[in-house]
Amino acid sequence: MSDRKVAFLGLGIMGAPMAANLARAGVEVVAWNRTREKADALAAEHANVSVADTPAEASKLAGAAISMVPDVPEVEEVLLGPGGAVEGLGEGDLAIDMSTISPTASRSIGERLGESRIAFLDSPVTGSRPKAEAGTLTIMAGGPEHAFERARPLFEAMGELVVHAGPQGHGSMIKLINNTLAAVNAAGLAEGLALARAAGLDTDRTLEVVASGSGNSAMVELKAQPMLEGEFDPLFKLEHMLKDVRYMITEAQALGVEPRVADTARGLYSQASENGLGERDFAAVIEAVGGAPQRGAGGAQPDPRGAQPDPRGAQPDR
Ligand code: NAP
Repeated sequence: MSDRKVAFLGLGIMGAPMAANLARAGVEVVAWNRTREKADALAAEHANVSVADTPAEASKLAGAAISMVPDVPEVEEVLLGPGGAVEGLGEGDLAIDMSTISPTASRSIGERLGESRIAFLDSPVTGSRPKAEAGTLTIMAGGPEHAFERARPLFEAMGELVVHAGPQGHGSMIKLINNTLAAVNAAGLAEGLALARAAGLDTDRTLEVVASGSGNSAMVELKAQPMLEGEFDPLFKLEHMLKDVRYMITEAQALGVEPRVADTARGLYSQASENGLGERDFAAVIEAVGGAPQRGAGGAQPDPRGAQPDPRGAQPDR
Protein backbone atom coordinates (compact mmCIF):
# COMPACT_ATOMS: atom_id res chain seq x y z
CA MET A 1 0.00 0.00 0.00
CA SER A 2 1.28 3.47 -0.72
CA ASP A 3 0.07 6.95 0.07
CA ARG A 4 -0.66 9.23 -2.87
CA LYS A 5 -1.87 12.03 -0.61
CA VAL A 6 0.35 13.37 2.13
CA ALA A 7 0.37 16.24 4.62
CA PHE A 8 3.72 18.05 4.60
CA LEU A 9 4.38 20.02 7.79
CA GLY A 10 7.31 22.45 7.71
CA LEU A 11 8.52 24.13 4.52
CA GLY A 12 11.95 25.48 5.48
CA ILE A 13 15.28 25.09 3.67
CA MET A 14 14.70 21.33 3.38
CA GLY A 15 10.95 20.87 3.63
CA ALA A 16 9.99 23.12 0.70
CA PRO A 17 12.10 21.32 -1.94
CA MET A 18 11.20 17.90 -0.50
CA ALA A 19 7.48 18.67 -0.72
CA ALA A 20 8.01 20.00 -4.26
CA ASN A 21 9.58 16.70 -5.29
CA LEU A 22 6.63 14.76 -3.87
CA ALA A 23 4.33 16.98 -5.92
CA ARG A 24 6.46 16.44 -9.05
CA ALA A 25 6.17 12.69 -8.50
CA GLY A 26 2.38 13.01 -8.65
CA VAL A 27 1.69 12.86 -4.91
CA GLU A 28 -1.10 15.16 -3.72
CA VAL A 29 0.49 17.34 -1.05
CA VAL A 30 -1.51 19.15 1.61
CA ALA A 31 1.00 21.71 2.86
CA TRP A 32 1.09 23.41 6.22
CA ASN A 33 3.73 25.86 7.40
CA ARG A 34 3.85 28.13 10.45
CA THR A 35 4.48 31.04 8.09
CA ARG A 36 1.64 30.47 5.66
CA GLU A 37 3.19 32.40 2.75
CA LYS A 38 5.66 29.56 2.12
CA ALA A 39 2.80 27.08 1.73
CA ASP A 40 0.95 29.48 -0.56
CA ALA A 41 4.09 29.87 -2.69
CA LEU A 42 4.42 26.09 -3.05
CA ALA A 43 0.75 25.77 -4.00
CA ALA A 44 1.16 28.51 -6.60
CA GLU A 45 3.90 26.46 -8.27
CA HIS A 46 2.25 23.02 -8.17
CA ALA A 47 -1.33 22.21 -9.16
CA ASN A 48 -1.41 19.19 -6.82
CA VAL A 49 -0.40 21.16 -3.71
CA SER A 50 -3.12 22.58 -1.47
CA VAL A 51 -2.77 24.55 1.77
CA ALA A 52 -4.22 23.74 5.20
CA ASP A 53 -4.66 25.97 8.24
CA THR A 54 -3.37 23.48 10.82
CA PRO A 55 -1.34 20.23 10.87
CA ALA A 56 -4.55 18.47 12.00
CA GLU A 57 -6.50 19.73 9.00
CA ALA A 58 -3.69 18.80 6.59
CA SER A 59 -3.38 15.32 8.07
CA LYS A 60 -7.12 14.65 8.10
CA LEU A 61 -7.27 15.43 4.39
CA ALA A 62 -4.30 13.14 3.67
CA GLY A 63 -4.13 10.17 6.06
CA ALA A 64 -0.35 10.37 6.24
CA ALA A 65 1.86 13.18 7.53
CA ILE A 66 5.51 14.15 7.11
CA SER A 67 7.11 16.65 9.52
CA MET A 68 10.29 18.61 8.74
CA VAL A 69 10.88 21.16 11.50
CA PRO A 70 13.92 22.08 13.61
CA ASP A 71 13.93 20.15 16.89
CA VAL A 72 12.03 18.03 19.43
CA PRO A 73 9.67 20.75 20.77
CA GLU A 74 8.58 21.66 17.24
CA VAL A 75 8.13 18.03 16.17
CA GLU A 76 6.04 17.38 19.29
CA GLU A 77 4.04 20.54 18.62
CA VAL A 78 3.17 19.72 14.99
CA LEU A 79 2.57 16.01 15.56
CA LEU A 80 1.15 15.81 19.09
CA GLY A 81 0.21 19.34 20.22
CA PRO A 82 -3.17 21.10 20.00
CA GLY A 83 -4.13 21.20 16.34
CA GLY A 84 -1.33 18.71 15.65
CA ALA A 85 -1.32 15.86 13.14
CA VAL A 86 -2.50 13.34 15.74
CA GLU A 87 -5.88 15.09 15.77
CA GLY A 88 -6.31 14.50 12.03
CA LEU A 89 -4.84 10.99 11.79
CA GLY A 90 -6.52 7.80 12.94
CA GLU A 91 -5.94 4.09 13.33
CA GLY A 92 -3.81 2.69 10.51
CA ASP A 93 -2.53 6.09 9.39
CA LEU A 94 1.15 6.97 9.13
CA ALA A 95 3.35 9.75 10.56
CA ILE A 96 6.90 10.25 9.33
CA ASP A 97 9.29 12.66 11.01
CA MET A 98 12.18 13.64 8.74
CA SER A 99 13.67 16.26 11.09
CA THR A 100 16.86 15.43 12.96
CA ILE A 101 16.01 14.76 16.59
CA SER A 102 17.27 12.36 19.24
CA PRO A 103 16.50 8.63 19.14
CA THR A 104 15.14 8.90 22.68
CA ALA A 105 12.64 11.56 21.60
CA SER A 106 11.77 9.61 18.43
CA ARG A 107 10.93 6.50 20.48
CA SER A 108 8.79 8.55 22.86
CA ILE A 109 6.89 10.20 19.98
CA GLY A 110 6.42 6.79 18.37
CA GLU A 111 4.95 5.42 21.62
CA ARG A 112 2.52 8.31 21.99
CA LEU A 113 1.35 8.01 18.36
CA GLY A 114 1.07 4.27 18.89
CA GLU A 115 -1.57 4.92 21.56
CA SER A 116 -3.78 6.13 18.68
CA ARG A 117 -2.58 3.17 16.56
CA ILE A 118 -0.75 5.51 14.20
CA ALA A 119 2.44 4.02 12.71
CA PHE A 120 5.56 6.16 13.04
CA LEU A 121 8.91 6.30 11.27
CA ASP A 122 11.86 8.40 12.45
CA SER A 123 13.31 9.13 9.01
CA PRO A 124 15.96 11.84 8.97
CA VAL A 125 17.88 12.75 5.85
CA THR A 126 21.40 13.63 4.85
CA GLY A 127 22.24 16.01 2.04
CA SER A 128 21.64 19.72 2.17
CA ARG A 129 19.36 21.90 0.10
CA PRO A 130 20.98 21.04 -3.28
CA LYS A 131 20.26 17.33 -2.75
CA ALA A 132 16.79 18.10 -1.41
CA GLU A 133 16.13 20.04 -4.63
CA ALA A 134 17.58 17.30 -6.84
CA GLY A 135 15.64 14.56 -5.04
CA THR A 136 18.91 12.78 -4.19
CA LEU A 137 18.79 12.81 -0.38
CA THR A 138 19.86 9.84 1.69
CA ILE A 139 16.96 8.75 3.89
CA MET A 140 17.34 6.44 6.90
CA ALA A 141 14.19 5.22 8.57
CA GLY A 142 13.63 3.62 11.96
CA GLY A 143 10.39 1.81 12.68
CA PRO A 144 8.29 -1.16 11.63
CA GLU A 145 9.05 -2.83 8.30
CA HIS A 146 5.42 -2.53 7.12
CA ALA A 147 5.46 1.23 7.70
CA PHE A 148 8.78 1.54 5.89
CA GLU A 149 7.51 -0.37 2.85
CA ARG A 150 4.40 1.81 2.83
CA ALA A 151 6.52 4.96 2.91
CA ARG A 152 9.10 3.75 0.39
CA PRO A 153 7.45 5.35 -2.71
CA LEU A 154 7.35 8.70 -0.87
CA PHE A 155 10.99 8.35 0.16
CA GLU A 156 12.01 7.45 -3.37
CA ALA A 157 10.42 10.67 -4.65
CA MET A 158 12.72 12.65 -2.32
CA GLY A 159 15.83 10.53 -2.04
CA GLU A 160 18.33 8.38 -3.88
CA LEU A 161 19.57 6.05 -1.14
CA VAL A 162 16.68 4.90 1.04
CA VAL A 163 17.63 2.65 3.97
CA HIS A 164 15.52 0.86 6.55
CA ALA A 165 17.89 1.43 9.48
CA GLY A 166 16.11 -0.84 11.95
CA PRO A 167 13.64 -0.37 14.81
CA GLN A 168 12.32 2.95 16.14
CA GLY A 169 15.14 5.38 16.89
CA HIS A 170 17.76 3.75 14.66
CA GLY A 171 17.23 6.25 11.84
CA SER A 172 17.83 9.11 14.27
CA MET A 173 20.90 7.42 15.78
CA ILE A 174 22.60 6.88 12.42
CA LYS A 175 21.84 10.48 11.51
CA LEU A 176 23.42 11.83 14.71
CA ILE A 177 26.57 9.76 14.14
CA ASN A 178 26.80 10.98 10.55
CA ASN A 179 26.32 14.63 11.44
CA THR A 180 28.77 14.51 14.33
CA LEU A 181 31.37 13.08 11.95
CA ALA A 182 30.62 15.96 9.56
CA ALA A 183 30.78 18.51 12.39
CA VAL A 184 34.12 17.20 13.64
CA ASN A 185 35.49 17.08 10.11
CA ALA A 186 34.35 20.62 9.30
CA ALA A 187 35.87 21.92 12.55
CA GLY A 188 39.17 20.20 11.69
CA LEU A 189 39.05 21.66 8.20
CA ALA A 190 38.43 25.13 9.65
CA GLU A 191 41.43 24.74 11.94
CA GLY A 192 43.60 23.58 9.02
CA LEU A 193 42.54 26.57 6.91
CA ALA A 194 43.19 28.95 9.81
CA LEU A 195 46.68 27.48 10.09
CA ALA A 196 47.24 27.71 6.32
CA ARG A 197 46.38 31.39 6.47
CA ALA A 198 48.55 32.02 9.53
CA ALA A 199 51.47 30.29 7.81
CA GLY A 200 51.01 32.41 4.67
CA LEU A 201 50.25 29.35 2.52
CA ASP A 202 48.60 29.60 -0.86
CA THR A 203 45.17 28.24 0.14
CA ASP A 204 44.35 27.13 -3.42
CA ARG A 205 47.47 24.96 -3.52
CA THR A 206 46.82 23.75 0.02
CA LEU A 207 43.34 22.57 -0.97
CA GLU A 208 44.60 21.07 -4.24
CA VAL A 209 46.95 18.85 -2.24
CA VAL A 210 44.46 18.02 0.52
CA ALA A 211 41.74 17.17 -2.01
CA SER A 212 43.99 14.63 -3.71
CA GLY A 213 45.21 13.06 -0.48
CA SER A 214 43.99 11.27 2.60
CA GLY A 215 42.79 14.55 4.12
CA ASN A 216 40.03 14.85 1.53
CA SER A 217 36.39 14.65 2.60
CA ALA A 218 32.90 15.80 1.71
CA MET A 219 33.56 18.79 3.97
CA VAL A 220 36.66 19.76 1.96
CA GLU A 221 34.58 19.60 -1.20
CA LEU A 222 31.55 21.43 0.18
CA LYS A 223 32.77 23.83 2.86
CA ALA A 224 36.41 24.83 2.18
CA GLN A 225 35.54 27.60 -0.28
CA PRO A 226 32.65 29.01 1.79
CA MET A 227 34.97 29.03 4.82
CA LEU A 228 37.72 30.83 2.90
CA GLU A 229 35.31 33.32 1.35
CA GLY A 230 33.23 33.91 4.48
CA GLU A 231 30.16 32.84 2.48
CA PHE A 232 27.79 31.70 5.23
CA ASP A 233 24.33 31.92 3.62
CA PRO A 234 22.71 28.95 5.35
CA LEU A 235 22.39 25.62 3.57
CA PHE A 236 22.55 23.94 6.98
CA LYS A 237 22.29 26.24 9.97
CA LEU A 238 25.08 26.14 12.53
CA GLU A 239 22.46 26.02 15.29
CA HIS A 240 21.10 22.78 13.82
CA MET A 241 24.57 21.23 13.63
CA LEU A 242 25.16 22.14 17.28
CA LYS A 243 21.80 20.54 18.18
CA ASP A 244 22.86 17.30 16.48
CA VAL A 245 26.26 17.16 18.20
CA ARG A 246 24.62 17.81 21.58
CA TYR A 247 22.12 15.00 21.03
CA MET A 248 24.90 12.63 19.94
CA ILE A 249 26.83 13.42 23.12
CA THR A 250 23.80 12.80 25.34
CA GLU A 251 23.03 9.50 23.61
CA ALA A 252 26.68 8.37 23.73
CA GLN A 253 26.97 9.14 27.43
CA ALA A 254 23.77 7.24 28.17
CA LEU A 255 25.26 4.23 26.37
CA GLY A 256 28.62 4.45 28.17
CA VAL A 257 30.61 5.79 25.21
CA GLU A 258 32.81 8.77 26.05
CA PRO A 259 32.37 11.36 23.26
CA ARG A 260 35.66 13.26 23.66
CA VAL A 261 36.13 14.32 20.04
CA ALA A 262 32.48 15.33 19.71
CA ASP A 263 32.79 17.35 22.90
CA THR A 264 35.62 19.44 21.44
CA ALA A 265 33.49 20.09 18.36
CA ARG A 266 30.58 21.05 20.60
CA GLY A 267 32.75 23.70 22.26
CA LEU A 268 33.62 25.27 18.91
CA TYR A 269 30.07 25.29 17.51
CA SER A 270 28.77 26.62 20.85
CA GLN A 271 31.22 29.46 20.72
CA ALA A 272 30.24 30.34 17.15
CA SER A 273 26.58 30.22 18.16
CA GLU A 274 27.18 32.46 21.17
CA ASN A 275 28.92 34.87 18.80
CA GLY A 276 25.68 35.26 16.85
CA LEU A 277 26.36 32.78 14.01
CA GLY A 278 23.63 30.24 14.84
CA GLU A 279 21.43 31.17 11.89
CA ARG A 280 24.39 31.16 9.47
CA ASP A 281 25.75 28.08 7.69
CA PHE A 282 27.86 25.78 9.87
CA ALA A 283 30.90 26.68 7.73
CA ALA A 284 30.99 29.71 10.05
CA VAL A 285 32.64 27.44 12.64
CA ILE A 286 35.86 28.78 11.08
CA GLU A 287 35.21 31.99 13.02
CA ALA A 288 35.59 30.03 16.27
CA VAL A 289 39.11 28.89 15.37
CA GLY A 290 40.45 32.30 14.46
CA GLY A 291 40.26 31.66 10.72
CA ALA A 292 37.87 34.45 9.79
CA PRO A 293 38.25 35.29 6.10
CA GLN A 294 40.22 38.19 4.77
CA ARG A 295 37.68 40.27 2.88
CA GLY A 296 38.98 41.25 -0.55
CA ALA A 297 42.15 39.12 -0.34
CA GLY A 298 42.76 36.36 -2.93
CA GLY A 299 43.27 32.74 -1.97
CA ALA A 300 47.04 33.06 -2.46
CA GLN A 301 47.44 35.98 -0.09
CA PRO A 302 49.12 35.40 3.24
CA ASP A 303 47.32 36.79 6.27
CA PRO A 304 49.37 39.82 7.27
CA ARG A 305 47.88 39.69 10.76
CA GLY A 306 49.23 36.20 11.30
CA ALA A 307 45.79 35.13 12.56
CA GLN A 308 45.96 33.65 16.04
CA PRO A 309 43.69 30.84 17.15
CA ASP A 310 41.06 32.08 19.56
CA PRO A 311 41.93 30.49 22.90
CA ARG A 312 38.22 30.44 23.81
CA GLY A 313 37.75 27.88 21.02
CA ALA A 314 38.82 25.11 23.38
CA GLN A 315 36.23 26.00 26.01
CA PRO A 316 33.64 23.34 26.74
CA ASP A 317 29.98 23.91 26.01
CA ARG A 318 28.19 26.01 28.58
P1 NAP B 1 14.71 25.68 8.62
O1 NAP B 1 15.06 26.19 7.27
O2 NAP B 1 15.05 26.46 9.83
O3 NAP B 1 13.12 25.38 8.59
C1 NAP B 1 12.44 25.04 9.74
C2 NAP B 1 10.96 24.84 9.45
O4 NAP B 1 10.30 24.56 10.68
C3 NAP B 1 10.26 26.05 8.85
O5 NAP B 1 9.22 25.60 8.01
C4 NAP B 1 9.70 26.74 10.08
O6 NAP B 1 8.55 27.53 9.83
C5 NAP B 1 9.30 25.54 10.90
N1 NAP B 1 9.20 25.85 12.32
C6 NAP B 1 10.14 26.41 13.10
N2 NAP B 1 9.68 26.52 14.37
C7 NAP B 1 8.43 26.04 14.37
C8 NAP B 1 7.43 25.90 15.36
N3 NAP B 1 7.63 26.28 16.63
N4 NAP B 1 6.25 25.36 15.00
C9 NAP B 1 6.03 24.96 13.75
N5 NAP B 1 6.93 25.07 12.74
C10 NAP B 1 8.12 25.61 13.06
O7 NAP B 1 15.34 24.22 8.87
P2 NAP B 1 15.82 23.12 7.82
O8 NAP B 1 17.22 23.38 7.39
O9 NAP B 1 14.77 22.90 6.78
O10 NAP B 1 15.92 21.85 8.81
C11 NAP B 1 14.78 21.13 9.25
C12 NAP B 1 15.27 19.86 9.93
O11 NAP B 1 16.04 19.08 9.01
C13 NAP B 1 16.19 20.10 11.15
O12 NAP B 1 15.95 19.12 12.11
C14 NAP B 1 17.59 19.94 10.55
O13 NAP B 1 18.54 19.55 11.53
C15 NAP B 1 17.33 18.84 9.53
N6 NAP B 1 18.26 18.79 8.38
C16 NAP B 1 18.66 19.94 7.75
C17 NAP B 1 19.53 19.84 6.68
C18 NAP B 1 20.05 21.06 5.95
O14 NAP B 1 21.06 20.93 5.25
N7 NAP B 1 19.43 22.22 6.06
C19 NAP B 1 19.97 18.60 6.21
C20 NAP B 1 19.51 17.46 6.87
C21 NAP B 1 18.65 17.56 7.95
P3 NAP B 1 8.66 29.07 9.39
O15 NAP B 1 8.75 29.07 7.90
O16 NAP B 1 7.42 29.68 9.91
O17 NAP B 1 9.92 29.64 10.05
